[in-house]
Amino acid sequence: MGDKSGRHFLQIPGPTNVPERILRAMSRPTIDHRGPEFARIAREVIEGLQQVFQTTGAIVIYPSSGTGAWEAALVNTLSPGDTVLMFETGHFATLWRNMAVRLGLQVDFVPGDWRHGVDPAVVESKLAEDRGHAIKAVAVVHNETSTGVASRIAGVRRRMDQVGHPALLLVDTISSLASIEYRHDEWGVDVTVGCSQKGLMLPPGLGLNAISEKALVAANTARLARSYWDWEPMIKDNKAGFFPYTPATNLLYGLREAIHMLLEEGLDNVFARHTRHAEATRRAAKAWGLEVVCLDPEEYSSSLTAVMLPGGQDADALRQVILERFDMSLGTGLGKLKGKIFRIGHLGDFNDLMLAGTLSGVEMGLALAGIPFTRGGVAAALDYLSGT
Ligand SMILES: *Cc1c(COP(=O)(O)O)cnc(C)c1O
Repeated sequence: MGDKSGRHFLQIPGPTNVPERILRAMSRPTIDHRGPEFARIAREVIEGLQQVFQTTGAIVIYPSSGTGAWEAALVNTLSPGDTVLMFETGHFATLWRNMAVRLGLQVDFVPGDWRHGVDPAVVESKLAEDRGHAIKAVAVVHNETSTGVASRIAGVRRRMDQVGHPALLLVDTISSLASIEYRHDEWGVDVTVGCSQKGLMLPPGLGLNAISEKALVAANTARLARSYWDWEPMIKDNKAGFFPYTPATNLLYGLREAIHMLLEEGLDNVFARHTRHAEATRRAAKAWGLEVVCLDPEEYSSSLTAVMLPGGQDADALRQVILERFDMSLGTGLGKLKGKIFRIGHLGDFNDLMLAGTLSGVEMGLALAGIPFTRGGVAAALDYLSGT
């Protein structure tokens, strides 16, 4: 292709497009992270994140990817040999399980078909069987980014309460935070894991934990080794607006701007925008005659749509054609879905015409790659977008 003009379309489900406002906010000199200006910024972003997580509790911000925030959730709350109940919703849930095993936890990993979310009834039956309370935590991925399936966290919480089991509830919201409705306090979540490069519209580099009182108490007796991820010095220093080690200062400038943008739009409007773009995308897939991975309409993801290709067609070859011809990146199939699906990210800084362009690139790519499909997906999406 050689030289490219115009914007690259970054339609993977994270990292997402970083808006100009955030790029400009980060493009400033790095300041003294032990000085008064920094302390004001730190306090402001922590308060802002409380609104995004919908919590009044503790927030911890690491200079890390989301994987670091996963590790923090486990090592601060659990002890060697503790049992954790986890669910095979897809690739990311499997990676979190693998981490828990490497850290010396016993994982009860409920198998899944990668097309459904966590079944709250299974949470209830597993916990009801566990009369000796061996299970210390239930860990769930809210939005499984490898499949485009969102689990029902409020339903999981209700079932846990019904059995009266004391396990902690740990939730990965890495690809749902600021895209799909999420209520840390109201849903009784103990540790919520997030990061910067998905719905928060920032570059990669910040890992987040929102932490309940119950999780803070658990941290007092948890014995997994922890140092860099230890909540205690973080929370202590954060009170004065500081960090126990050098924070990602420029990403925090960006985070402050991202929070302003989200609160200006209003979180409910942000969620509604994502829901609408997801519906338009599914209408396009349906008109193309292609199946989405998610089988239960109650579990459709608003952040991304994973689309299956008819048997034997290579989804990565399609993605390559689309990248070369139209300069658009789509998400690859992960784990056992490699080559079988492609994923359209429609989260973060995104609007109707960006979606129209994205779906147009997919429709043209399907034709160029010689994949059997029906034209008309873009038209179906545009009809929906212009009618709502
Ligand atoms: C992206 C993602 C991760 C991994 O985050 P990193 O920043 O790559 O470490 C974990 N869980 C989910 C659901 C994700 O989408």
